[in-house]
Amino acid sequence: MIREHVRLDRFNTFGLPAVAERYLPLRHPEQLSGSAFERAPDLVLGGGSNLLLMEEIPGLTVHVLLSGIEWTDGRGRFRVAAGTDWNQFVRYTLEAGFPGMENLILIPGTVGASPVQNIGAYGAEVSEFITAVHAWEYGRGPVTLSPADCNFGYRDSRFKHEPGRYLITSVEFDLSERRPLKLAYGAIGSELERRGISDPTPADVANAVTHIRRSKLPDWFFLGNSGSFFKNPVVDRADYERLAADHPDMPSYPIDDESVKLPAGWLIDRAGLRGTGTERVGSYDKQALVLVNRGQARGTDVLAFSEDVRQIVHRKFGVCLEPEVRQVPAPTGQVG
Ligand SMILES: Cc1cc2nc3c(=O)[nH]c(=O)nc-3n(C[C@H](O)[C@H](O)[C@H](O)COP(=O)(O)OP(=O)(O)OC[C@H]3O[C@@H](n4cnc5c(N)ncnc54)[C@H](O)[C@@H]3O)c2cc1C
Repeated sequence: MIREHVRLDRFNTFGLPAVAERYLPLRHPEQLSGSAFERAPDLVLGGGSNLLLMEEIPGLTVHVLLSGIEWTDGRGRFRVAAGTDWNQFVRYTLEAGFPGMENLILIPGTVGASPVQNIGAYGAEVSEFITAVHAWEYGRGPVTLSPADCNFGYRDSRFKHEPGRYLITSVEFDLSERRPLKLAYGAIGSELERRGISDPTPADVANAVTHIRRSKLPDWFFLGNSGSFFKNPVVDRADYERLAADHPDMPSYPIDDESVKLPAGWLIDRAGLRGTGTERVGSYDKQALVLVNRGQARGTDVLAFSEDVRQIVHRKFGVCLEPEVRQVPAPTGQVG
């Protein structure tokens, strides 16, 4: 049933005050054939961990609460309902003896949102494991998209570019293939060494990633945040070389012959912004890329601070930072 003027403060990890004009919890797939799903709602809400909500959310918000894990063949294939907690699913696969996603442990949010920005961490991306995405196409009905249909890229997919077209209802994963562990990314290697582990199991990697994430990222339950606020910018090689000449210690990740990815957190840190801000909002002191709600922040406070960060970084390095989080409602002139 659609309710009016429902507070979303508890449903976004930034803990921002927001009211949905109309709110519909989606708990059963049968609800999709109702008239509410003939056209796109104004907001599809999962775990609210990648959103920057303004105080008034006009129109209809659909909260995806479909849940359940189906182990389809007993050999590492799973079909998971969109509202299932991502971290719970990763733990389930590891306990069931199907490793692969250990580097993706502890990412907040729902399974249904995982293809939207092709979540990734510590050298792994969810698109490596997805075999199909089941969705409701507004005005059409149920559809199934193959990985190729999803156009996965770095923190990107077709779902980001067509926000008013699909509501993801479930996702299929294949974990039957044994893959080598990914140990070379971030602090995984040094954390395993610190623990005296030279021949790690997937569970060791999961424990190491859990420890690293807990020590680096604030717990949103106590300090509201949306994880990385900006994407890592990708620049032309010529721009990279100009920057590297001025900042020889700048980390960088070549993408191809023409472009290089730079760590947004490093740029923000070196612009002198780590730990700065106001009493309401700021950059986290242990990880500059994470903007935090220091208490009583509103969406407009976070937006204003993020604009300052963008301008200062641009002035110092000539690099444009783009938000990774989705602002709702979208800024005027933007869709979705
Ligand atoms: C502390 C912290 C750490 C994080 N670390 C990482 C990280 O390491 N890697 C990473 O990639 N991300 C990270 N994130 C970001 C976030 O966890 C992911 O983007 C996550 O997938 C968002 O899931 P959600 O259910 O909360 O989506 P929401 O925030 O509710 O929604 C995000 C977007 O997906 C859309 N959406 C949600 N559900 C559906 C659906 N069923 N169908 C269609 N569209 C849908 C929404 O409309 C919105 O556009 C982090 C966030 C936090 C707070």
